Amino acid sequence: MDRLIIKDVSILTMNSEKKIFENGVVVIKGDAIEAVGDKGLHEKYKADRVIDGNNGILIPGMVNTHTHAAMVVFRSLGDDFADRLKKYIFPLEKKLVDKNLVSLGSKYGIAEMLLSGVTTFADMYYFEDEVAKAAKEMGIRAVLGETVVNFPSPDSKVPYGGLDVGEQFIEKWLGDDLITPAIAPHATYTNDSIHIQKASALAEKFNVPMMMHVAEMEDEIKKYRNEYNMTPVQYLESLSALNERFIAAHLIHVSMDDMDILDKRNIGIAHNIGANAKAGKGVPPLKEMVNRKMRVGLGSDGPMSGNTLDIINQMSLVAKIHKLFNHDRTLFPARDIVEMATLGGARALKLDNLIGSIEPGKKADLVILETDSVNMQPIYDYYSTLVYAANAGNVDTVIVNGKVLVRNKCFIEYEIEKIQQELKALNLKIKMECIYSGMN
Ligand SMILES: [Zn+2]
Repeated sequence: MDRLIIKDVSILTMNSEKKIFENGVVVIKGDAIEAVGDKGLHEKYKADRVIDGNNGILIPGMVNTHTHAAMVVFRSLGDDFADRLKKYIFPLEKKLVDKNLVSLGSKYGIAEMLLSGVTTFADMYYFEDEVAKAAKEMGIRAVLGETVVNFPSPDSKVPYGGLDVGEQFIEKWLGDDLITPAIAPHATYTNDSIHIQKASALAEKFNVPMMMHVAEMEDEIKKYRNEYNMTPVQYLESLSALNERFIAAHLIHVSMDDMDILDKRNIGIAHNIGANAKAGKGVPPLKEMVNRKMRVGLGSDGPMSGNTLDIINQMSLVAKIHKLFNHDRTLFPARDIVEMATLGGARALKLDNLIGSIEPGKKADLVILETDSVNMQPIYDYYSTLVYAANAGNVDTVIVNGKVLVRNKCFIEYEIEKIQQELKALNLKIKMECIYSGMN
């Protein structure tokens, strides 16, 4: 196995002591971290390759716990319209989403994530097999769930066809070193009780995650109050759907009783404050979730909702919005936010035994941010620099599973230009469809 050494970097390990190695060294053997330590450590090891970190900041790869990457092809369409879901998203998806669109959109979205330091993402969409193939081809780690809805979808002629597609998808990808297959019933309001239970049984059968949008909209809360006299969380609990495999996106409108249930069931949480803020949907009770030590990671949501797929942007938003909302400058210090973006995301996806911190034995998913750009100096506190000053453009080097994918802010092997050209052609087709359908 090849040995790769990274030296001359400030390492934020995100281990239990939050150890920082100034001018440190990481030794990688094959796909895993072999050793981490101070300057000089590398002299004990024979390296096949050495990366000079050039005084950059080395962090664990960031985790995007909730997105729909392929929707990047629709980015900037109908952003500020009230009825956007029904006016833009559903009609466009019905008309245009096919295998090719998902393949192309996923590759483009994954490129954006890798170049911004996201090394693991969780995705729920249609033709999820195409997302998996794109992820595998580009070398990113992913938790991928086929979407299940109560209407015919782009890859199923019948309602709930996603369950069968999803089962085949799980069987195909189970045991892969980068892909964790999952099932993803879209939401409580787009799935009936029988099919939520079927999805839950499927997740249990294969011991894979189940991802779902939960308590995202006020309408959703009213519907469950009127029809069942329950909250969406109580409804899911009544179906025995909540457990450690469950990953809930959003959880904006949740009561303290809901929090008790979610805490007891130890679910994973994808917190998408950027998308929630843009849509004016509300502020999830993150403070309460963190106080309870629940498994919370950060997510961008789909690029039609959140517009960007990176997590650096989310870190800044999470810190600022919750400080503002709680009138508390001391809430969520930068170190806690960096933890949410890395180890927290790994915990939410139940991958923290593999990734999320820089420790011997863990997979080598690592990111170096350069510190030469004007926005990155001076540095008195690494965490503060990352959360309040850095942007996605500062990501210099990205390693997933021991493989260097991005160096000097460019892909080493992957040819992004071809994807960019294909996207331009698809953009034209989408524009024509919008004009033809009277959307503008
Ligand atoms: Zn979503």
